Amino acid sequence: MILDLTQDFEGKSRFSKNSPVSGELLAEYINFSENDVAEAVHNAQSMRAMWRGLSFYDRKILLLQWAKYLANNLEELANLVVEETGKPVADATLEVSLAIEHISWAAKNAKEYLSTQSRPSGLLLFNMESKVQFMPLGVVGVIGPWNYPVFTPVGSIAYALAAGNTVVFKPSEFTPGVGLWLEKSFEVATSTKNVLITITGLAETGKYLTESAVNKIAFTGSSRTAKKVAASCAEKMIPVILECGGKDPVIVAEDANVALAAEYALWSAMANAGQSCIGAERIYVHEQVADKFIEKLKSFALEVKPGVSYGPATMPSQLKVIEKHLKAAEAEGVKFLVGGPNSIQEPYVLPTIMLEVPATSVAMTEETFGPTIAINRVKSVQHAVELANESNYGLAAAVFSKKYAQEIADQLECGMVSINSVFSFAGVPSIPFGGVKESGYGRIHGPEGLLEFVSAKSIISPRFQGPLKLTTFKRKNIAERITTLIIKKLHG
Ligand code: NAD
Repeated sequence: MILDLTQDFEGKSRFSKNSPVSGELLAEYINFSENDVAEAVHNAQSMRAMWRGLSFYDRKILLLQWAKYLANNLEELANLVVEETGKPVADATLEVSLAIEHISWAAKNAKEYLSTQSRPSGLLLFNMESKVQFMPLGVVGVIGPWNYPVFTPVGSIAYALAAGNTVVFKPSEFTPGVGLWLEKSFEVATSTKNVLITITGLAETGKYLTESAVNKIAFTGSSRTAKKVAASCAEKMIPVILECGGKDPVIVAEDANVALAAEYALWSAMANAGQSCIGAERIYVHEQVADKFIEKLKSFALEVKPGVSYGPATMPSQLKVIEKHLKAAEAEGVKFLVGGPNSIQEPYVLPTIMLEVPATSVAMTEETFGPTIAINRVKSVQHAVELANESNYGLAAAVFSKKYAQEIADQLECGMVSINSVFSFAGVPSIPFGGVKESGYGRIHGPEGLLEFVSAKSIISPRFQGPLKLTTFKRKNIAERITTLIIKKLHG
């Protein structure tokens, strides 16, 4: 069955979604207004009690039904991703596959991490029973980007739902069809309505969601927008998770498997046309192996074919950013090993490799988000670590080394490190995903990702009335003396 994504346009304003490859109109979608957003949040609120009232087991069954629906209709969703982003179908297929893994993990593990826990009460209050309950927040607003329009938002949606929340999802205006498909597939697979609601629209629609009655916002997108989201949410003290951009470094040590490092670093930088938050943008290679590494990377890069290996720039305005970075590097005397400022051939960007880019260049300090990479030689891995940490960003990093990898990883200021590999942490649902510094805060995925969507409630009750009554005006001197004695014995 092909899902019907028709919306009722009556009385609504619309926006167009065009093909990133041909520029032709693909479809029109409702541009949700402030009132529409408020209504969607209200509808999601109306299902809060039902959804949170289900047992972990019941929610698991429903979420696994959704995962099953996605698996059985993987091609349909992947084709829609291809149509809206322009990425190769194999990449879209992998993206959907990973999202299914995450739904399944969240469904199966919510009970283990979010069930009520007993905690020790300590010697002073030994007569009390102490428990922690994890309460769903209510309605979670998820705001998503276009570069991985299934994988990225599902990393919040599935975990928020598994934790007992209902969700209002604002997909990117560049991938509205994918966003609607997720809502409709959830409705069909689970026979529910208003548990997962998609609101299509432009930036303003996202802003309305941050101003609405949601109980948390999980935002993924640029650091620039993240700051606006956090500021808007601060007005009502709505808590936020911010998953933002990166300028991810790759460190190649003197003992690295150089061919492997070149192959993986190139893919990390250029897969999805370089439009990956966790994609490599800077490489620091030890001078002892630099020549060999650069030669390998160049030879691999020459085999990469825009339009086949990767798609166009999904968001046309990004081409200007990429061009600005390449032109700035050229003006600073940077040597181009492959490509150059003329690599921008709308809607594609040709593979581009820059050598010895100054640390202060915009091409080294800001997220480029294109199939470009800067390679700088270093005299030691220690220096590489310092340069890697100089960035305002701190999302992920990759390290290639036989002996020093863990030592290097320990020193990197970021949220995720791949050793002798790239990207793989995104495919492991049990570990958290997120960054530090301007790459954001909070975590999706894993137990940490589940805990983001609950609030801890402590409950304490007497098992029996203890001898030390401290919380009463009838407190005896002896109780105070015994308390002091215990504290001195324990900690003095
Ligand atoms: P973006 O910031 O332009 O938009 C992201 C979303 O925010 C869109 O849905 C947009 O409509 C919405 N939005 C825009 N203005 C808003 C506002 N004022 N209030 C609320 N919502 C608003 O980002 P993008 O171009 O869609 O995505 C690319 C960026 O996302 C890159 O920087 C990339 O690194 C980052 N990203 C990060 C991760 C991660 O997990 N850390 C994953 C994927 C992408």
